[in-house]
Amino acid sequence: MIEVKNLVKKYGNHLAVDNLSFKIDKGKIYGFLGPNGAGKSTTMNIMTGYLGATEGEVLIDGHDILREPEKAKKYIGYLPEIPPLYMEMTVQEYLDFAAELKGIPKEKRESSVEEVLKLVKLKDVRERLIRNLSKGYRQRVGLAQAILGFPDIIILDEPTVGLDPKQIIEIRELIRDLAKKHTVILSSHILAEVKEVCDYIMIISKGRLVASDTPDNLEHLLDDAESL
Ligand code: ATP
Repeated sequence: MIEVKNLVKKYGNHLAVDNLSFKIDKGKIYGFLGPNGAGKSTTMNIMTGYLGATEGEVLIDGHDILREPEKAKKYIGYLPEIPPLYMEMTVQEYLDFAAELKGIPKEKRESSVEEVLKLVKLKDVRERLIRNLSKGYRQRVGLAQAILGFPDIIILDEPTVGLDPKQIIEIRELIRDLAKKHTVILSSHILAEVKEVCDYIMIISKGRLVASDTPDNLEHLLDDAESL
């Protein structure tokens, strides 16, 4: 479903993504695991059409989204590292606005927003201004906009960062639930998180794919993943 071929991203002279190639199948949870600066966010920003690549291809159902970045939005819901929230909007206003931006038909917008408000447990704060929410709640709002309209592919950059332990458990459960019908790709630098949540782990270091396999098959490498 997603094929990344020989992806390269340079920021000036700095090689952030170094000839990355991989395939993602439908209906599974994939985890990008790697230390800070490994190139996880850059790869996700390119896969979602937010950022151009220096070289390479990203094919989604055969469409090269680097040439047609608008197509990416049809297939992908994205929670970037810093969610694009409007602080002066209420949660409800923001999600209504996001539904419109995503092109969800008018007659379906209200029910779509209701569904994600319930799923991400935001109903109690729907009338609150985003600026007045805690970091954990803001992260949920970002997640809500990512899954709005239930796109085929959901890409989450460090989805549990800034959450308390109870919220982390809830979000992990939600991700597993989403993966029953959707393909989920998440990034993390927390080994325990990807081991627990993901069907496949891709270890990324210095912009390169070091290994890609199930958590069980990678056990030997994961033991010293801290040293990558
Ligand atoms: P983190 O978990 O810290 O976000 P990451 O694995 O997501 O790390 P990236 O954010 O993709 O890594 O960064 C990859 C490399 O590219 C890093 O060395 C980073 O400093 C560099 N980089 C990222 N964005 C830019 C930018 N806009 N300009 C220049 N260099 C950048």
